[in-house]
Amino acid sequence: MKDHEWLPMIPIKRGDGIWLEDYDGNRYIDAISSWWVNLFGHCNPRINDAIKNQLDTLEHTIMAGFTHEPVIRLSEKLVEITPHGLEHCFYADNGSSAVEVALKMSFHYWHNTGNPNKTKFINLANSYHGETLGALSLGDVALYKEIYQPLLLDVITAPSPDGFLREDGETYQDYAQHSFDEMDKILQQHADEVCAVIIEPMVQCAGNMRMYDAIYLKKLREACNKYNVHLIADEIAVGFGRTGKMFACNHADISPDFICLSKGLTGGYLPLSAVVTTDNIYQAFYDDYDKMTAFLHSHSYTGNPLGCAAALATLEIFETDNVLQNNIQLIDSMKKNTEHFNDHPHIAEVRQTGMILAIELVKDKQLKTPYPWQERRGMKVYQHGLKNNALLRPLGNVIYFMPPYVITPEQIEFLAETAWQGIQLATAD
Ligand code: PMP
Repeated sequence: MKDHEWLPMIPIKRGDGIWLEDYDGNRYIDAISSWWVNLFGHCNPRINDAIKNQLDTLEHTIMAGFTHEPVIRLSEKLVEITPHGLEHCFYADNGSSAVEVALKMSFHYWHNTGNPNKTKFINLANSYHGETLGALSLGDVALYKEIYQPLLLDVITAPSPDGFLREDGETYQDYAQHSFDEMDKILQQHADEVCAVIIEPMVQCAGNMRMYDAIYLKKLREACNKYNVHLIADEIAVGFGRTGKMFACNHADISPDFICLSKGLTGGYLPLSAVVTTDNIYQAFYDDYDKMTAFLHSHSYTGNPLGCAAALATLEIFETDNVLQNNIQLIDSMKKNTEHFNDHPHIAEVRQTGMILAIELVKDKQLKTPYPWQERRGMKVYQHGLKNNALLRPLGNVIYFMPPYVITPEQIEFLAETAWQGIQLATAD
């Protein structure tokens, strides 16, 4: 809050497509999709209409013993589009809650199936899964977690397959392969006490947009089968086309036991999340009342009809507008417009997975030495962006583009130029 003494907060009056507009008429390209939620622009007429229509029919209803058309249609659609074998949907109202649901359901599954010793979870270094206490426990970004450590679950952390950490001469794939060896050892050693491994497939978004090769997902799926441990794919940030495919798991052609979805699920309109899981897991809870095997996790706004209507409209746009195919041109444009960034003396890496492109600023390019965090170099790029019609809120010293899919190649060129100028200013001394 104290930053706002010198960097005033910007009240936003309206949104229109790629643009956010403040009360002084300044416009900002939403280059980060308002924290990765917006897919088809602000105030998208088709999503607006779907919500308005739903509003005049049913705004909300209890989801225990009752159901409604939007949630049924959405569940059928999610089962259809998510990786093979995911057949049942459980709803909550934000990403962190979806992670809590998956963790609880995995633990409870093992309890119901006679494996009470399975009580732990494995995560990856540098991961992020939300900030409620369970989800926070499974994350590994010190900034969010450190202070709350005494309140958190004990987790087993495997090294991240993050390709930025590779040695000279190593490829992303080499690094993913050999960082998996450690995961395999951990699984071998702890399988009897572990419920699940939780990952963000392909991109660790809040962990500075670090990316890794799909081979890791393939190996992890095989190992989870071998060691009888669930795989939870947190696709809250990377789902719905962000990585170039509908879901990041599609890059390795794998199906997790649980997929967590939120953010883009409603096109970035309303808080809604879903955990989609297998029939095998569903059946472990399905029994007579007096067996007391049911899964209880009851949020008031579970399966909210307005959120479901927004989600259905969003998924319809994917189908009618051939979105993934059209995004190829945008992906290419992001790449081309930032190719020259690689030669900058303070840019260690420009990395890209589909519609996510990240630029890592460093003090020493050869050694990949980070700038001291206190210098807040990324913040300088952000300030430059604000003066030049771009919302480029960074992650520390990582500048990234994760725009809504309604962005044009011309707007991408403009963003790249703005980011370039900002980086020049931020790294000048
Ligand atoms: N998981 C991942 C991978 C995320 O990126 C986020 C949000 N940034 C969450 C979980 C938490 O979602 P929410 O903010 O809706 O609680």
